[in-house]
Amino acid sequence: MKTVALATAYPWYDIERVIILSPHMDDAALSCGGLINFLNERQTSCLVISIYGGNPPTVRSKDGSLRTLQRKGYVNPRLRRREDVAAMRAANADVVHLGFADGIYRRSPLSNQIIYRQARERWVAPRVDDLGHVEELFLVLRQLCLGLGRILLVSPMGIGQHVDHTIVARVALRLAEQRASLLFYEDFPYVVNRSVGNGGADGPLSALQRLARDPVARMVLPVSVAAKASLIGHYQSQIPALFEDSAGLHAALQSHQHEGTPCEFYWKTRDIRGTQRDEENE
Ligand SMILES: [Zn+2]
Repeated sequence: MKTVALATAYPWYDIERVIILSPHMDDAALSCGGLINFLNERQTSCLVISIYGGNPPTVRSKDGSLRTLQRKGYVNPRLRRREDVAAMRAANADVVHLGFADGIYRRSPLSNQIIYRQARERWVAPRVDDLGHVEELFLVLRQLCLGLGRILLVSPMGIGQHVDHTIVARVALRLAEQRASLLFYEDFPYVVNRSVGNGGADGPLSALQRLARDPVARMVLPVSVAAKASLIGHYQSQIPALFEDSAGLHAALQSHQHEGTPCEFYWKTRDIRGTQRDEENE
């Protein structure tokens, strides 16, 4: 498998829009902040579609009052949306918040029970109770993404096995079957820090294997750590949980390197039967 420079791998001036699928509001900046800055410098339109992070459901307490369900890591979604809008404005990227409920809040339409007990579960396919959501997400993204001219779709690959990331990756593959050119990004910081998340040894090759994809090319994009840290710095509510502090953020960004230079890595793939469906737009 070859390693190539992302900067020269695509005719950026011919691409009408780069669409980055961001399962949660910080994922695009965390994983693709270097790419977002790169596109801004080239005046290539970038649309970030943030999929989850809607207001959590409310439940009625015994005294009749309504309260918001708050599971682990809860931060007021209004604050998170403000952080995201500020970050994307700073980078001249458009952003859409779809506001689907996070995996940990989704309930079975059949039993009304919570579908996933944890955000990270080792499964090959989404739970059957979640398939209605997966289908709805596909239809919404197809409507949003496939009428925008020549696009490059950039999707998480699901390193760290977060339920929501994996679902987005699977939906992105279905979009690629409908003539969208697709690149996978590495879910950051899970790709560099295995103690964040489920602590399992996971990486790009195992994530691609779970999606039944073979790597065709690994694309590298050198990043300015200072510029990417500045973009991620807009998500102040997330820094302590992910990196402890700003120094931890810089160290994590610095640690992901190619030939001594901090980089982001993107993966072009084909399915394991050898069909490379996502090439026709290049
Ligand atoms: Zn996420």
